[in-house]
Amino acid sequence: MSKKRRDFLKATAIGAVGITALGCQEKKHDHEHHHGHNHTHEDDREVTKPVVISTWNHGLAANEGAWQVLSSAGSALNAVEAGVRITESDPTGQSVGIGGRPDMSGEVTLDACIMNHKGDCGSVAYLKGIEHPISVARKVMEETPHVMLVGDGAKEFALRKGFPEVNLLTEKSKQDWEDWKASERKVLPKINVENHDTIGLLALDVYGNLSGACTTSGAAWKMKGRVGDSPIIGAGLYVDNEVGGATATGWGEAVIRAVGCFLVVEFMRQGNSPQEACRLAVERVISKNPDWKDIQVGFIALNKYGEHGAYCIQPGFDYAVKSRLVQNEMIKSESRV
Ligand code: ASP
Repeated sequence: MSKKRRDFLKATAIGAVGITALGCQEKKHDHEHHHGHNHTHEDDREVTKPVVISTWNHGLAANEGAWQVLSSAGSALNAVEAGVRITESDPTGQSVGIGGRPDMSGEVTLDACIMNHKGDCGSVAYLKGIEHPISVARKVMEETPHVMLVGDGAKEFALRKGFPEVNLLTEKSKQDWEDWKASERKVLPKINVENHDTIGLLALDVYGNLSGACTTSGAAWKMKGRVGDSPIIGAGLYVDNEVGGATATGWGEAVIRAVGCFLVVEFMRQGNSPQEACRLAVERVISKNPDWKDIQVGFIALNKYGEHGAYCIQPGFDYAVKSRLVQNEMIKSESRV
């Protein structure tokens, strides 16, 4: 039997169990995963699955898209892609995909990355004129030997793969840019919530596998050529199927300096809850960024057991959760300030 066929049969068998288990919690046994010696006490931890969590208000609609996949025993990878594509297509969202606010020069440039339970990842940055950077990132992951494509190369790749070219700049975002240009300030508002709301989405599927996706138009009025944390594996997103996943929003420069999401996952590996791991990572961000009082950074995290949490610097950040236990609602993140 081919490996693909074996995997398929295995997945279908687990899927059948998974579907019947949709309404209940399962015990996770140690032989299912490989913990370090100091984690054996977790043998009987309950697992809630599937679960999807995502950043900000637009996460509610994205979670619904992801849930359709998860609730029919689809993979976390398919779920995270389907979820954030909804946000990318929404022209009223001015920080992701179509309708995203442009850079200083008036051009919309998009960044995205995706990571699956096997540790495979793909990313695009400074991508222009393509509605779904997340799907291009997935193609980079699955159909190239590389992890990251940027700029013209990413665009050419997307067009070659059949993605249509679209105009990403809406009248509203164009007008906002013109107003900003005409204003005296001409500085980047670093903590303005309006200015920062990337979608980062994490999912745990019925098979117990984790994946994550992160997609953004980046900071509004950014310098031409600027790329933030969102397409950087380890900074804007990280997933380790043995432990959990994390994704970030806020001032990308500060997240990159601390390799934020990798750090959150490492803190969870050490035994911290998702929320505590996010808090410790925010503390690290604060220690590496003397201007921390002027910026917003928020992390959300989801572990192998379906537990989730968040933490941020400034108040005002929340995240959307959907699972058997939580019917798609916003949860307020605790903040340092
Ligand atoms: N992190 C994104 C960036 O800096 C923006 C955001 O999340 O608001 O590109």
